[in-house]
Amino acid sequence: MKCQRCSRTAVIYQKYSNAHLCKSHFIEDVERKVKRDIRKFKMVGRGEKIAVALSGGKDSVALLFLLHKIFRNRPDLEFIAITIDEGIRDYREHTLEHAIKLTGELGIRHVIRSFDDEFETSLDALIKKKENAACTLCGVLRKNILNKAARELCSDKIAIGHNLDDESQTILMNYMRGDIDRLKRMRPGIIQKGMVPRIKPLRSIPEKEVALYGFLNGLPVSTDECPYAGYALRNEIRDILNNYEVNHPGTKYSLLGGYESISEFLRPDDTKIVFCEKCNEPGSERICKTCRLLGRK
Ligand SMILES: [Zn+2]
Ligand SMILES: [Zn+2]
Repeated sequence: MKCQRCSRTAVIYQKYSNAHLCKSHFIEDVERKVKRDIRKFKMVGRGEKIAVALSGGKDSVALLFLLHKIFRNRPDLEFIAITIDEGIRDYREHTLEHAIKLTGELGIRHVIRSFDDEFETSLDALIKKKENAACTLCGVLRKNILNKAARELCSDKIAIGHNLDDESQTILMNYMRGDIDRLKRMRPGIIQKGMVPRIKPLRSIPEKEVALYGFLNGLPVSTDECPYAGYALRNEIRDILNNYEVNHPGTKYSLLGGYESISEFLRPDDTKIVFCEKCNEPGSERICKTCRLLGRK
């Protein structure tokens, strides 16, 4: 198959746009969408310091590479990569290596925080003690450390590598659970006291295309999957959406676009932030999720 914009061999067929693209036109297409979203949602402002959540997995690696490429001629901006080491044996070691390698190559400051330093425990140890689903536990604790670290580094924003699949899954999950509070909180550009605002530059890029983009740019590819990932409810939603997308290409974009239109009518100021009585971190309840999951009394 030939690229429809030039005569070179295509590396991808985008069913949702009915386009065959060669390597350079595919890369151009990804970068165009990312730049468009950064402008549209005013993700990056003049003179800002941006913390980039870098797990070392394919999404975060592509995110850091892209931000560096797009903004390399902007000396007013500063990017700092933050990696959270959850203490998942045989998994995190590999992705951590990728994170260290990439930040070294790009010359980006790299900060590593661990569950061990912060909570004096590891995810492996917590799972053994608790009945909680691993992904919930891990997600809550990681978000807590990431926000704290970004705030301590005086970051204006936290960039997260969530792709189109992650975003559309989250939207569908929240619809299905009727969780309007969460729908409000995931609105781009939302400001909450004590929380460093989160930006998602890859939100319009399908997961497969993020992987291909990384591969074509020679980025370290991690094939390891988190050993706890199999337990998540999200997997069910992922299968539903992927199956649906096969027969109805463009569904993930429709979910994202539909949510954007609806979110205009969600008043973000309705979500109230309270500061935890135990640790003083921002959350939605008197005792924050982190403290409850860790059983802090
Ligand atoms: Zn081409
Ligand atoms: Zn707390």
